Amino acid sequence: MGVDIDCIVIGAGVVGLATARKLAMAGKEVLLVEAVEAIGMGISSRNSEVIHAGIYYPTNSLKARLCVQGKEMLYRYCEERGIAHQRIGKLLVATSSAQLPQLDKIQAQATANQVHDLQRLNRQDVLALEPMLHCEAALLSPSTGIIDSHGLMLALQGDLENHGGQCVFHTPLESVIIEKDGAFNCTFGGDEAMNLRCNILVNAAGLHAPSLARQFKGLNPAFIPPGYYCKGNYFTLSGKAPFSHLIYPMPNESGLGVHLTLDLGGQAKFGPDTEWITEEDYTVDPARAQQFYAAVRSYWPELADDSLEPGYAGIRPKIVSRDEAAADFMISTPAQHGIANLVNLFGIESPGLTSCLALADEVWQALNPTSH
Ligand SMILES: Cc1cc2nc3c(=O)[nH]c(=O)nc-3n(C[C@H](O)[C@H](O)[C@H](O)COP(=O)(O)OP(=O)(O)OC[C@H]3O[C@@H](n4cnc5c(N)ncnc54)[C@H](O)[C@@H]3O)c2cc1C
Repeated sequence: MGVDIDCIVIGAGVVGLATARKLAMAGKEVLLVEAVEAIGMGISSRNSEVIHAGIYYPTNSLKARLCVQGKEMLYRYCEERGIAHQRIGKLLVATSSAQLPQLDKIQAQATANQVHDLQRLNRQDVLALEPMLHCEAALLSPSTGIIDSHGLMLALQGDLENHGGQCVFHTPLESVIIEKDGAFNCTFGGDEAMNLRCNILVNAAGLHAPSLARQFKGLNPAFIPPGYYCKGNYFTLSGKAPFSHLIYPMPNESGLGVHLTLDLGGQAKFGPDTEWITEEDYTVDPARAQQFYAAVRSYWPELADDSLEPGYAGIRPKIVSRDEAAADFMISTPAQHGIANLVNLFGIESPGLTSCLALADEVWQALNPTSH
């Protein structure tokens, strides 16, 4: 039996869009299938919109390599396609002398990750840049930036469609049978339930990637990690922030700490914090503001009472529980699980936005091991 379409990519977040674009630009016939009504309704529209430099991640991890590569690819792509972005720079601050060794460690890690542009600043240097910032010392990362993530996703969708690819919405993938001839027989629900057979299947379903992969009959479950949700809440600042850089405290086990980011309109927000949850829930509890005031005042003591408003929340697609060491991106390829032409993308948390173009290249190479 023949197939209906060559490639199906599941999930129209930034990673699914970048991957579908890559496959279409390489000459494949591609259908990008999304469960809900539009692109970027999942993790990709609920993040900090920061182009990360690649500073913290463990040496030789996928996060380190794909963030550093992805950052350069993304800046180039933004220039080429006129996507709004700004290389605004970030200050990573040690707020007490006890944190100075951590700053040294982070700088060494950045160097190991091939991020060579960090500048160590003493308190006077920092005050010259940001007079309201309290710290003992800081690292300035000039290659950190901000991006209009929706503009990015629209550009990716435009490229996909210009290369003959198609997006369909309201079409959740429900299950897959991996057939004897190697084809993927996909059953979709939604308004127009249907079955489609394809040669190549990429699962970029974000938070749902592990639970979806469990519905692939023929895939050994040993190659599917568990899925956990770690919510990140944001609070917005009413009024203007007195900062022109992104400001980050020291990272912690689950994330980068409650940092200050500015959007392209200059609006400041703080977050994300970390809240492990079991159900998808995007409400921001106003009571969490107290923890935000405390965290932010460690680097901005003048933050006024009543100046924080509940903003929005995103959920990190974790593949390890809160008690385990942080995991790397998991790109589960034919070389690992043994099923030709299937790639599952698990645990694509931060820096997934920064890395999206590099992740797409990685998927392409996993599907075409002789192409590079
Ligand atoms: C709080 C937070 C802050 C972050 N900040 C940054 C940052 O500043 N910089 C950075 O680089 N990264 C950041 N990230 C990470 C980045 O946002 C993600 O890595 C990236 O958006 C993941 O994109 P995705 O396409 O994998 O997932 P998603 O955007 O979630 O896309 C998955 C899509 O799959 C669809 N889907 C699910 N199940 C099915 C199904 N069965 N059938 C069809 N479709 C389905 C969903 O509806 C969704 O649209 C942050 C993440 C979080 C949570």
